[in-house]
Amino acid sequence: METLSGTVLAGESFDPIRGRVVVEDGRIEAVEEADTDSTDIVLPAFVNAHTHLGDSVAKEAAVGLSLEEAVVPPDSLKHRRLAAADREELVSAMRRTLRFMRRTGTVSALDFRESGRAGARALREAAAETGVDPFIFGSGDPSVLDVADGYGASGANDGDFAAERAACEERDRPFAIHAGEPDATDIHPALDLDPDLLVHMVHAGREHLERVADRSVPVAVCPRANAVLDVGEPPVRELLDHATVALGTDNAMLNQPSMFREMAYTAKRFDVTDREALRMATAAGAEIAGLDCGVVEPGRRAALVVLDGDSDNLSGSDDPVSAVVRRATGLDVERVVA
Ligand SMILES: [Zn+2]
Repeated sequence: METLSGTVLAGESFDPIRGRVVVEDGRIEAVEEADTDSTDIVLPAFVNAHTHLGDSVAKEAAVGLSLEEAVVPPDSLKHRRLAAADREELVSAMRRTLRFMRRTGTVSALDFRESGRAGARALREAAAETGVDPFIFGSGDPSVLDVADGYGASGANDGDFAAERAACEERDRPFAIHAGEPDATDIHPALDLDPDLLVHMVHAGREHLERVADRSVPVAVCPRANAVLDVGEPPVRELLDHATVALGTDNAMLNQPSMFREMAYTAKRFDVTDREALRMATAAGAEIAGLDCGVVEPGRRAALVVLDGDSDNLSGSDDPVSAVVRRATGLDVERVVA
């Protein structure tokens, strides 16, 4: 049994309580109010709802490039660099990114993995012993589902994904797809595939939002990546009013996969509360992938981040939730329990 004391951001609403979290056999046994001297802040570990870890082989290579030039298959810089990387280089680059993610409080990432079965296998190998458990949306032939957890389609304008969608249905696996990144033309076709997850939705309009709400389709938004690629800003407020919305850091080549940075950017740039931003970085991604973490409450998996609330960065803050969302960095992480 282990006890984590301090200010606990407990439950779905992240209500700060002074007390402790009791952990036994990897599960949260109790969340209790109690007297404590600890200045730690205990919160759920992060789930990054959209990554492309493979492009860890091309960090900063796409600075200044457009969406088309940087990441669109099959001829973009990203795909040329992925093709040129040997397997060992790829696995090593992804592993180092995963280690960074763990150190900054992330325990799972919903990754769109390129390169079919081989690509999915390479990510499994990279993730071993990093403490980050990727939820892999594979690509290529539907047989990738032998290795991956679900299927990730590049976008409805890139091809016909009916067979891949059917394969997911048959095997009871989630089907995810990019939609509405450069423009709105692929959103209705993506929704026609009855997806389990939409990624981006930058150009979602009222009709799209209504369809999303009708079918309860969750959405992963990646605001920093959208900014770097200059495709516009997702309607985060409107999406939150219609769906479960989670935060992703998207291409590892464009941004560091730190949920602290993504939360801070989102909270400061969009009409969302700090609690909503924290939920988008924790419980929302966990819910989408069916993971049993993201909320500090009894019975859940104990995937937790412990921050030093008395670090030079965080000391003196008025509000622990706002401090976590708007100010904290990886330097404030004391430990990640998972
Ligand atoms: Zn993506």
